[in-house]
This record gives sequence, C-alpha cells and structure tokens, in this order.
Amino acid sequence: MTAAAFAAVFGAAHRQIRLVESSEIGIVGVGEATLPHIRFFNRRIGIDERELMAHTQATFKLGIEFVDWARIGDSYIHPFGTYGSRIAGIPFHHYWLRQQAAGDSTDIGEYSLPIAASRANRFALPAEDPTDVMSTFGYAFQFDASLYARYLRGFAEARGVQRTDGKIVDVKLRAEDGWVQSLTLDSGEMITGDLFIDCSGFRGLLIEQALKTGYDEWTHWLPCDRAMAVPCENSGRLTPYTRATAREAGWQWRIPLQHRMGNGYVYSSNFISDDEAAAKLLSRLDGKALADPRPLRFTAGRRRKTWNRNVVAIGLSGGFLEPLESTSIYLIQIAITTLIDYLTEQSVATGNYDPRVVQAYNRWIEMEYDRVRDFLILHYHATERADAPIWDYCRTMRIPDSLAHKMELFRTRAHVITYKDGLFLEPSWLAVYFGQRIMPRQYDPRADAPNPEQAREQLARMRERIESALVRMPAHEDFLRQYCPAEPGSGRAGVRT
Ligand SMILES: Cc1cc2nc3c(=O)[nH]c(=O)nc-3n(C[C@H](O)[C@H](O)[C@H](O)COP(=O)(O)OP(=O)(O)OC[C@H]3O[C@@H](n4cnc5c(N)ncnc54)[C@H](O)[C@@H]3O)c2cc1C
Repeated sequence: MTAAAFAAVFGAAHRQIRLVESSEIGIVGVGEATLPHIRFFNRRIGIDERELMAHTQATFKLGIEFVDWARIGDSYIHPFGTYGSRIAGIPFHHYWLRQQAAGDSTDIGEYSLPIAASRANRFALPAEDPTDVMSTFGYAFQFDASLYARYLRGFAEARGVQRTDGKIVDVKLRAEDGWVQSLTLDSGEMITGDLFIDCSGFRGLLIEQALKTGYDEWTHWLPCDRAMAVPCENSGRLTPYTRATAREAGWQWRIPLQHRMGNGYVYSSNFISDDEAAAKLLSRLDGKALADPRPLRFTAGRRRKTWNRNVVAIGLSGGFLEPLESTSIYLIQIAITTLIDYLTEQSVATGNYDPRVVQAYNRWIEMEYDRVRDFLILHYHATERADAPIWDYCRTMRIPDSLAHKMELFRTRAHVITYKDGLFLEPSWLAVYFGQRIMPRQYDPRADAPNPEQAREQLARMRERIESALVRMPAHEDFLRQYCPAEPGSGRAGVRT
C-alpha cells in the first residue's frame, strides 16, 4: 500500500522508491474486512474499484453484525450509514428515544438502509443526491488480503517501484546521530536511502529492533492476544456484511468472499488454550474447512513514536488493534496519506525533516489509535454477560478516562461526543451503545416539540422511504455478478449462487 501510494503521488520517475520484501518470510495476509475509507484511498492513488474487486475475489460490506455481545441471543449491526434523519436540527435518535419512552418498540435498525439491506442480502451503489435515501450509506469490501497485496505489487511496479525479494539481515545506523544509513540484504546488497518506511510487520525491524522506540501495551483493556484463522467453503448466501460473534474467550469472525469464507477466532490466551480455540473454531464453521487453522500472536498497543528519526513505521510495525472493527487497513492508509500530506517534495529530496512536522505527525497517529482503542473497548466493557471469566473481567475492568467520559455523557443525556478527525462518527457510537443495551436516562427535551401523532408520522415516513428503496436494490450476488465477477486465476473464479 505504501509503495503503491508513494509511486502514484510522488512519481517513481522523480524519486527512487525501493520495495524490499521477503517471500520466504511472507505476509500476515489475514486482513479481509475493510472500512469505507478504503474507497477514498483507492481514488486518491488511482485504483479502479471494479478491477480491484475482481482481482481480490471481493464482496461488498455494509457493516458488521455483532452477535451475543451484550447478552447471548442478541444481534445488532454496526452500519456504514446513518439512522433516520435530523428533525429541526436535532439528531434522529432523540426522537426515537422519545417514541421508545412512549411504548414504541421499533428497533432503531429499521431506520437504517444499510442495516435493512444487510438483513435482506441486497446491495446497490449509493446515490450522490443528499435528498435521496440511497445517499445515506457508504460501503467497503471484504477481500482476499493476499490477492490484494499481489494486486498492489503489480500496481506499484507498473509505476516504477523497484522491488527486491530478499531478506534484510543488517541495519546500519549513522554514528553521528543514530539515523538509519543502510540496509544489508542476505544477497550482500546494501541499500541506502533518505527515508525508510518500516512495513516489516510485528517484528518492527527498523523502528524497534534497530531504533528501540518502545511500545505502549494495551492488553489490560483489550485482552485478546491470539487468533486462529481458517478459510472454509462458502455455503448459503453471500452476506454483504462481516459477522463477529462473541465466544467463551473472545470472538469469532466470518467474512464471505466470492470464492470462500474467511473465519477466525480471536481470543485471550489467559482464558483458552490454542488447541481448544482451534477445535472450537473448526466445530463452528458454516462449510468444510479448506486448510488447517493458522495461529497468530499479537499484543494490542502502539509504538511510542511511529515516526522516529528517518524511519516511519506503517502497519503492524506501528501498532496493532485487534480486528473487531476491521481497522488495521484503515490505520495503514490514513498513516500513508497523512505522511504524504506532511512530506513536502523538498523534505523528501533533502532528508531534512522538521522536528515539528514529525511531532505533529506522531500526534495525529496517536489520536487515530486512541479513538479506535476506546471504541473497541466499549464492545468488551458494555456487556451483561457473566457466563465466562473473560466477560467478568471486561465488564468490571477500569476503562480509559476518555471512554468513561463518553459513556457517561451518553448515559445521562443521550449525547454522542463527535469529533472532526479520526474514525467513528455518531451512527457508529449509537450502533454499539444501543446494540449493547446502554440506554440513556434522558433524551433532548426539544424532541418533545412535535405532538405525538406528528412524531409517529414523521418516523413512519422514514421507515417507508427505506422500505421502498430496499425493494429496488438487487440481491448482493446479482450485483456482484454484473459489477465485478472474479478474475479467472484469482482463486476459484465466479460468484456462488
Ligand atoms: C488475526 C488478524 C486478523 C486481521 N484482520 C484484519 C481485518 O479484517 N481487516 C484489517 O483491516 N486488518 C486486519 N488485520 C491486520 C492486517 O492483517 C495487517 O494490518 C496487514 O496485513 C498489514 O500487515 P503488515 O504489512 O504491516 O505486516 P505483514 O503482513 O507481516 O508484512 C510484513 C512484510 O515485511 C516483510 N519482512 C519482514 N521481515 C523482513 C526482513 N527481515 N527482510 C525482508 N522483508 C521482511 C515480509 O516479507 C512482509 O512482506 C488482521 C490482523 C490479524 C493478526
């Protein structure tokens, strides 16, 4: 992603961009679910969406379904879109709360088109016209991460990136200031450079092993530290959403692609053994397993500085927040585009990086991680489950003050703290608050302005607009078949019906 974006934006004809990776070491390759931001990244660097989807066996994603999180038997969808519309400038959910207080039991999901489309397995592209209910959602992709890496490699090489398959065996630092001077490959080749982007994964080859930057660990808030991943055969319909089901020691993902289903069990090693996690995962697949479960280990947290001297850590080398909300690829892409914005042509050429720019970049990335962290912790903490030690721990753990403040404001007056930058806007917080049974004590009293009959009618009209848009949306599989049938050769071709 970094090499592709740098080549597209800075032009490899003017700057020499070298990409070193080792096919012997390989990639993690399990990032299968994405967020709508990926479309802005694609557009910015000139990736064609249909071509990308066809090459990566992709399906559309309208949100994430959370099953069994607050109580066993619960299910809610975090949609990529809004709930209802504002009335007299007041957010919709205050009117919904008013109706609930008056005895109406309509689920808030009935006011969200992406939720309705997910439940009905339908998909169509959103509209641009803001008055059209079809403009109230966004979408992302579910794709094969290894095919994505392969596609981007071709994209980068076509734009002049010089790729070397080799293992870095030594990193030389400049004696005078400790900046990275060169990398030595197992072939003996030495590579010098002005700026080194460390995309070496969890090992943090430059940022940690060479520069000893340090890592802030968050396992006490996000206790899962391992995963088992296994693909299985598709069975049933291709859902335009990812599913995350809470389990006895963590949670299980289910991500439908055109050619197979991605599955994984993310768990805490304090509460289940690897063997048991693998057995539980295999016993809960929708179709026949296509491989043995693959174990992965990680530590939630982030690097103390993601830009240190002339090294910028992007990806798993910069930090890791577990995949519950599919945020890693987003964090990578926002790190790339922010870095590009902060790097002037001049500083790329001279290698003189203004320390104020470096500090501002690091602060930005910290903010991005902190926002995601709080949102993830909310899923674990806001549970009523008392059937397993992990849920007892999460329910009673001390949470960050920043999250405690957000939750308190919501509980007291249904207020959602919004911010200009960073992930997760009001509808995302509402989805998880309501989905995990956090009900505010009070709503905005201005929502009492319309008389009860008017309020009922206004809300009924919103539901009708969603229903009439929904019937015009094609089935997800049918839309995929005409929009981006999988390329022959990228796994098993064709859309399952
Ligand atoms: C269980 C799990 C589930 C995930 N699910 C999602 C998801 O649904 N959505 C999402 O957005 N993200 C997800 N992620 C995160 C996603 O997988 C990663 O963010 C993504 O794969 C990027 O990884 P990376 O490039 O930083 O590291 P890696 O994939 O580990 O790549 C590291 C690269 O560095 C190279 N390298 C390392 N050492 C050397 C060396 N000595 N010499 C030469 N080359 C070297 C390797 O060859 C490789 O190319 C998930 C992660 C995990 C662990």
